[in-house]
Amino acid sequence: MLNSPVVDTFLELVRIDSPSGQEAVLGQAIQNKLSDLGISSSIDAFGNLFAKVEGRGQPVLLSAHLDTVEPGRGVKPTVEGGMIKSDGTTILGADNKAALAAILTAISQADRSKLRPLEIVFSVREETDGWISKFDFSNLTAKTGLIADRASAVGSVVLSSPWIMNLNIAVVGKPAHSSLPELAVNALTVAAKAISATKWGRIDSVTTANLGIVSGGSGMNTIPGRVDLVGEIRSFSETKLNAVQAKIKSVFSQVCSKYGAELIFDNSLYCQGYSYKKSDPAVKQIVSVLQSLNITPFYEVVFGASDANTFAANNFKVVTIGDGCTDPHTVNESISEASLEKLTQVFLAYITNSG
Ligand SMILES: [Zn+2]
Repeated sequence: MLNSPVVDTFLELVRIDSPSGQEAVLGQAIQNKLSDLGISSSIDAFGNLFAKVEGRGQPVLLSAHLDTVEPGRGVKPTVEGGMIKSDGTTILGADNKAALAAILTAISQADRSKLRPLEIVFSVREETDGWISKFDFSNLTAKTGLIADRASAVGSVVLSSPWIMNLNIAVVGKPAHSSLPELAVNALTVAAKAISATKWGRIDSVTTANLGIVSGGSGMNTIPGRVDLVGEIRSFSETKLNAVQAKIKSVFSQVCSKYGAELIFDNSLYCQGYSYKKSDPAVKQIVSVLQSLNITPFYEVVFGASDANTFAANNFKVVTIGDGCTDPHTVNESISEASLEKLTQVFLAYITNSG
């Protein structure tokens, strides 16, 4: 494809290393690009980039993340037959630089007199610990927005993302020499009883529970005094999430007290979920943009989280759409030039939409 500004921008961005926590060089490069477009931007103490663009009508939010996963250093993109890939030793970084390139290109191509007011947030550490949460959301006046961070065809509209709760459980018994079991409370066997008395896996159509790490014990001839368990619950229903947490805690508590062990049960919300309706104005707006470009919209419910969850937790209706990327987080990651063009058209129509 000749003379494709979005492809050129994309190739330039993926060549700039930006693994999570080391996004500063990319942030600066994007500030320079915005500045070339006459847009001033700032970077907060955490590395999140923020810019505002004047316009008419309802303001909209555009967001993407600057960071990439590993192996993501020294990316050497190749373009062949309309497909862009890495050289096979690194990821490509289309997640999420496809969106960054599309947003920058759309703004550069937009008729400024038709532009809506834009509020742009490019976040850091989305892939690790979501530092968008440290962004000062009082900067924003937009209530709705768009994120392209779903590895699906351009046309995908994500309606729901789950609530996720992390579990850190410790069963504390009493250690003793293996020859003196009468003196011990074996934390491992108590934990095993509690684990098998608990329902894991798919709890119902919208809820899962997983125990991911079990650790404990100190020696072959020592009865374990403590076992630590790490897990999570995810659900599209906050009520069900809390009900499963309460159930697990109650089973563990009963088993521990029956066998004389102490239970330490910590749970913390990793992210809030969201569920949009197809009739939601924020969703309808995206769907009408897609249809105006002859892209057939399709709805998805995903079991993963992104910056959109944090926006939702702060009362912003930010809709996630497909970015056209395939095999993200692997060295086989790819995106077509056609998808980059399409994504740019979507952003262009969105930011100049009069609706
Ligand atoms: Zn991403």
